[in-house]
Amino acid sequence: MAKAMIAKVQCVAKGENGFSCGTALRKTEMYVDALGYFWCEDHKHRGELIQWAANHHYPAIRFDRFAIGVEGGSDNQMLYEVAAVVGRDEMIWEALSYVNTLDSSADDIDAAVGA
Ligand SMILES: [Zn+2]
Repeated sequence: MAKAMIAKVQCVAKGENGFSCGTALRKTEMYVDALGYFWCEDHKHRGELIQWAANHHYPAIRFDRFAIGVEGGSDNQMLYEVAAVVGRDEMIWEALSYVNTLDSSADDIDAAVGA
């Protein structure tokens, strides 16, 4: 077998104080999002946020104390990437629970996010 078949990839999650997850597993054991970032089981929710955003064309969202993206902005994809890679866990979880409420009323999503 070619060496590439067993190559491992690293989780890209980073955090405060220089934290860098760095969990290295085979690609098939990692969650990979729409942008090709790999996430370990502990940080999979971060990839899921990117996946959701990609599926919805990186809308600007506002929820509780946080916001991601700018309405009509051209850098929203990058802002989601930054949020997912280095954002605080509490923000990521709040973002996910917010977008889940949007998905449960999918017909209203364009109105809800101001798209
Ligand atoms: Zn990780």
